[in-house]
Amino acid sequence: MDTALSDPSAAARKTERLSVCVFCGARPGTSPEAVRLAREAGVTLGLHGHDLVYGSGGAGLMGEVARGAMSSGSRVTGIVPRFLYELERADQADTDEMIITEDMFDRKREMIRRSDAFIALPGGYGTLDEILEVVSLNSLGQCPKPLVLVDLDGIWEPLTALFDRIRAGGFFRQSAEAPFHLAGSVAEAVEFVERHTRSAADTVRVGA
Ligand code: AMP
Repeated sequence: MDTALSDPSAAARKTERLSVCVFCGARPGTSPEAVRLAREAGVTLGLHGHDLVYGSGGAGLMGEVARGAMSSGSRVTGIVPRFLYELERADQADTDEMIITEDMFDRKREMIRRSDAFIALPGGYGTLDEILEVVSLNSLGQCPKPLVLVDLDGIWEPLTALFDRIRAGGFFRQSAEAPFHLAGSVAEAVEFVERHTRSAADTVRVGA
């Protein structure tokens, strides 16, 4: 049965236009599958009527996500610190709006503040840092917005195992919810954020 029929609030959520922040690598990685996944993530957001917030890179997976989103009708907002603008080819980024921040901290704050939900694809230190920022703020009740990790080739499994270890060691609150959802596909990730994003009125906005 269509959940929108059985749950009227699901229908409202489905039609809501979300700002979804995608965290992913500034490099393409070694697997062509990662590039395909990034393009698919952008295209899927656009086809579902959502907007993209991202790190404004013109190359690597970041560039693919933006081109995919732009090609399927998303409004794309890129957020980049001044010192990375040239390094990460932000001049070649496909954006409707580009926000240049003073530093990495401001960039993260803006990405988090402007987004309703987060999807992480494969990436490096930067992606990991962004994931942990959201997890950490979320655990403090400062960012109650869904975070989904798309697990291409098991890249995020060790992180899941690490969180399980920390939980077993008693370093999380007992009541703490799972810090993120692990998705096997882009479609699953987008459906998850659509089902779990609260209305903006219920959401504590970081820096707002
Ligand atoms: P990455 O996942 O490392 O490819 O990077 C994703 C975004 O985070 C890019 O804009 C990177 O420049 C940025 N970034 C790169 N390295 C770091 C780092 N060590 N800490 C925080 N962000 C980074």
